[in-house]
Amino acid sequence: MKTGIIKNVEVKVLELPLKKQWKISLYEQTTRAHAVVRIQTDEGVTGYGEAAPSPAFMGETGYTMETVIKRYLADAVAGESVFHTDRLHEKMNAAIYGNYAAKAALDMAFYDAMGKLTGVPACRLMGGKYRDRVALSWVVGMQDLDASIEEAKEKLKLGYRVLKIKVGRTPETDTALVKRIRAEVGDDVPLRLDANQGYDAVTALQVFGRLEEFGLESIEQPVRRWDIRGMKMLRERLKTPVMADESVSDFHAVGQMIRESACDYVNIKVGKVGGLTMAKKIAAALEAEGLLATAGSNLEVGIGSAASIHFSAATPNVSLPGDLLLGGPLHQHDIIVEDFEVNDGFVTVPDTPGLGIEVDESIFK
Ligand SMILES: [Mg+2]
Repeated sequence: MKTGIIKNVEVKVLELPLKKQWKISLYEQTTRAHAVVRIQTDEGVTGYGEAAPSPAFMGETGYTMETVIKRYLADAVAGESVFHTDRLHEKMNAAIYGNYAAKAALDMAFYDAMGKLTGVPACRLMGGKYRDRVALSWVVGMQDLDASIEEAKEKLKLGYRVLKIKVGRTPETDTALVKRIRAEVGDDVPLRLDANQGYDAVTALQVFGRLEEFGLESIEQPVRRWDIRGMKMLRERLKTPVMADESVSDFHAVGQMIRESACDYVNIKVGKVGGLTMAKKIAAALEAEGLLATAGSNLEVGIGSAASIHFSAATPNVSLPGDLLLGGPLHQHDIIVEDFEVNDGFVTVPDTPGLGIEVDESIFK
């Protein structure tokens, strides 16, 4: 039996340039810091993980991940088996509180290594392939109106299943944007609006109360992450489902949202909540309440995206189209050798052992 004892942990920060400026209500940037983790087991098997958190969203960046992993987490996991995921998280949490992107990158590497040690794709370690392919949403970042329309139409032509639009700037700009996009794409395209905490609860009620007439699939994180009462009020007063993203920053935060009945949906980001182990627990908590989820993105590229694809494939209630392939197309280059297979707005779940990707090893040089 393979032991999977963690012998070595490396981390590399890559400041990857974006094709064009990425702007949401919280921040704007033209490059993004990704931290890539490479672990090695005593059998010589390699596991990879990656996260690309934004400072304003999570309080972490690729650079804090590097420090946290090197100074605290590498020692915490060394000598432990990659198969002991709950104990690994206990050890990581004892070494340092929070820092879930850093823990997520390591957790992905555990699953990649476990899959390679046992010869199965990562999704089979999480319940197996509930679905063979996963539906994709495309996220239209903030830019001028004409550029937004052009991007929306181009992505719909590629088959994306949901158009997610970044809002939360001002009521006037949001109204003009949503009205125009709805007119241009027709009535059948599901529109998800993500305000990234852009509004106070009273303004959010006014804005989204008006925007509902354009037909919305959901409204994501309309108010500040800590405003649970605001989320609940909007859920009660709006017809459109309300989705929590920043408000569910970790496993225990989902408990509070459920207890307060403060959201209909949750955007579970593997890189936000501490990795696949924790994402599965959050999904299970929601499943117990009959709630649905989506898998979002922090603009991670190939490795992080692969983890999210395996999670979505293996988790029945992660059934809403997800932002799974966002970081790859938005950046000038990726860190995996072969791109994912995408057909008609669905990504095929990789079938080879572990995360099922080949990492461009030159990034470690
Ligand atoms: Mg979001």
